[in-house]
Amino acid sequence: MNRNEQPRLLAADEPPPFTIERERGRSPFVLICDHAGRRIPRRLGTLGVADDELQRHIAWDIGARGTAAHMADLLDAVLIAQTYSRLVIDCNRPPGVASSIPVISEATAIPRNENISQQERERRRREIFDPYHGRIDAVIDARVQAKRPTMLLAMHSFTPVYAGVARPWHIGTLYHRDTILPRLLLRHLRAEGDLVVGDNEPYAVSDLTDYTIPVHAEARGLISTGIEIRQDLIADQSGQRQWAERLARILGEIEAELKPERLA
Ligand SMILES: [Zn+2]
Repeated sequence: MNRNEQPRLLAADEPPPFTIERERGRSPFVLICDHAGRRIPRRLGTLGVADDELQRHIAWDIGARGTAAHMADLLDAVLIAQTYSRLVIDCNRPPGVASSIPVISEATAIPRNENISQQERERRRREIFDPYHGRIDAVIDARVQAKRPTMLLAMHSFTPVYAGVARPWHIGTLYHRDTILPRLLLRHLRAEGDLVVGDNEPYAVSDLTDYTIPVHAEARGLISTGIEIRQDLIADQSGQRQWAERLARILGEIEAELKPERLA
């Protein structure tokens, strides 16, 4: 090791920055879960944050991974999910923006993220952000090359109360440039009859606040949407299974409605 080189962030016995399941899945849907994990590299300790805070939504999207994994099984769709907490580096933020390595999340300070060196920023990007997005890129490249229909689904979950304000939605779509999939998904979700559905609520996609949809879908002209599910509905396994079953059924209907040429 060069004297000026930092030691690696992830130790040899720590898990890789992402997991991939059903890489050869037959579904046109590619499931991405940017905030699936809440692990922190051992070298960073607790980031200076209390343990109970690290269980909360500020560290990860509660329930999103379990729901996405059930959906992947039901749809036979590939799922790529991030292992490490968004408090280490947020994989749905362009590197370099303030919220990429946040010093505050909701009302919680993240002391170990304050005044960090450029080297430390680059190390987090190199070991966590880049390999994750590199793999997403490679999976999509291979599908495009094989002329396989591909639609990107970014799976998220949101806290029922943010900054003291209760949120009424059960589920929401989040999107920006794609006008095909979000519209279909909204129509199907509303037709369920028992759901309060957010249209770009509680969040919308933008180039400044998002990375995955703008870079992996919009820049390639792929059909895409984000899905946000309220965390209290998918906090346990039975909730995750129920929502996965409902969404897999709806996505199957949408797939059948879309003409094959629109998916190509
Ligand atoms: Zn999220």
